[in-house]
Amino acid sequence: MDQDKLYDLIIIGGGPAGLSAAIYAQRAMLDALLLEQEAVGGQVIVTSDIDNYPGVPHTDGFTLVDAMRTQAEDLGARIVLTSVTGVTHRPETGLFEITTPDGTLRTKTVIACGGASPRAAGFAGEREFTGHGVSYCATCDGMFYRGKKAYVVGGGNSAGEEALFLTRFADQVDVIVRKDHMRAQAAVARELEESPKVSIRYLTSVVGVAGDTMLSSITLRDNQTGETSVESYDEGGFGVFVFVGRVPASQLLEGLVELDDGGYVVADERMATRTPGLYVAGDVRQKPLRQIVTAASDGAVAATSVSAYLGHPVEG
Ligand SMILES: Cc1cc2nc3c(=O)[nH]c(=O)nc-3n(C[C@H](O)[C@H](O)[C@H](O)COP(=O)(O)OP(=O)(O)OC[C@H]3O[C@@H](n4cnc5c(N)ncnc54)[C@H](O)[C@@H]3O)c2cc1C
Repeated sequence: MDQDKLYDLIIIGGGPAGLSAAIYAQRAMLDALLLEQEAVGGQVIVTSDIDNYPGVPHTDGFTLVDAMRTQAEDLGARIVLTSVTGVTHRPETGLFEITTPDGTLRTKTVIACGGASPRAAGFAGEREFTGHGVSYCATCDGMFYRGKKAYVVGGGNSAGEEALFLTRFADQVDVIVRKDHMRAQAAVARELEESPKVSIRYLTSVVGVAGDTMLSSITLRDNQTGETSVESYDEGGFGVFVFVGRVPASQLLEGLVELDDGGYVVADERMATRTPGLYVAGDVRQKPLRQIVTAASDGAVAATSVSAYLGHPVEG
C-alpha cells in the first residue's frame, strides 16, 4: 500500500468478482490494488461442492478461488489484507479516497466487490448462541453435528443445498420453512424430497433457542395455529443452521450510489454507478442471479469499463 501514490483502480473485496476484476485490470495494464478484509476468495471459500462453474465439472470453493488468486497474482495483481472503512468521492478532482485502518489511499476509480453476508433470522437466542450451536455455514460447522440433529432455517436454494450437505453428518435434518412452499431450484427440491434424512416442516418458524453453554432446546411455532412447541435434547445435541438471505456490503457506498429495497447497488450493464469512476461487481449489486460465474463476469466487465473510463479502451 502506497499512500503517496495515485492508483488507477482500487478493488474492494477479493471474492470471485474482485479477483476477476484484478485479472482483467492487469491485462489492461492498470495500476491497480485489491483490498480484502478477511480471506481472499470470499464466500466461495466455505463452499464444499461446486458443480456449476463452466469448464470445471466438480470442485470445491477453496480450490476454485485459489486458482483465481494464483492466476491474478501471476499476472502481477497486488493484494493487500486490510478492511476498507470509507469511500469518499471528491467531485472537484473526480478522485476517490479509500480509508483503511492502515492509512488512506487515493485512486482514480473504484470497483466495489464486497459481496454479501448472512442475514440473521431474528429468533431469541440467535445472536447469543452464534458459534455455540447457531451457525451460518454448514461447510464450516456441519462436522460438529455428526450423528446428531440439525435444523435448517430457510426456504431458498441455499437452505436446500446446505440441508443436503448436512445429511453427510447429521442423522436427521429438519428444514424449517416459514411459508407453505420452498423456493429452491427443482433439482435441489427433488433431492430434499428423496433424502430419507430430511424432513421439510412447512408453515413453521423458530421462536427461540436456549441452553447453558450449548443449545439444549428449540421453540417452534406453527404459523397456521400460532401454537408453540419445545423440542429438547442433551446439551449440544443439535445445531441450528440459518440461511435466510444475505445482506449486501453496500453501506460503504451510501450517498454515492442508488440502492434498491434490499440494499443492493443499482448499476448499468457496464457496472457503472451514478458516481463517475465508481463501479460495482458481484453479489453486492442488484441482479437476477448471484453465482460465481456471474460474479466473475461482472468483475471482467467492471475492469474493462474502468479501462475505457481512464482512456484505455480494451478490445473485446
Ligand atoms: C452457502 C453458499 C453456497 C454457494 N454455492 C455456490 C455454488 O455452488 N456455485 C456458485 O456459482 N455460487 C455459489 N454460491 C454463491 C457464490 O458464493 C457468490 O455468488 C460469489 O461468492 C459472489 O462473489 P463476490 O465476489 O461478489 O462476493 P464474495 O464472495 O462475498 O466476496 C466478497 C469479498 O469482499 C470482502 N469485503 C467485504 N467488505 C469489505 C471491505 N469493506 N473491505 C475489504 N474487503 C471487503 C469480503 O471479505 C469477501 O471476501 C454460494 C453461496 C453460499 C453462501
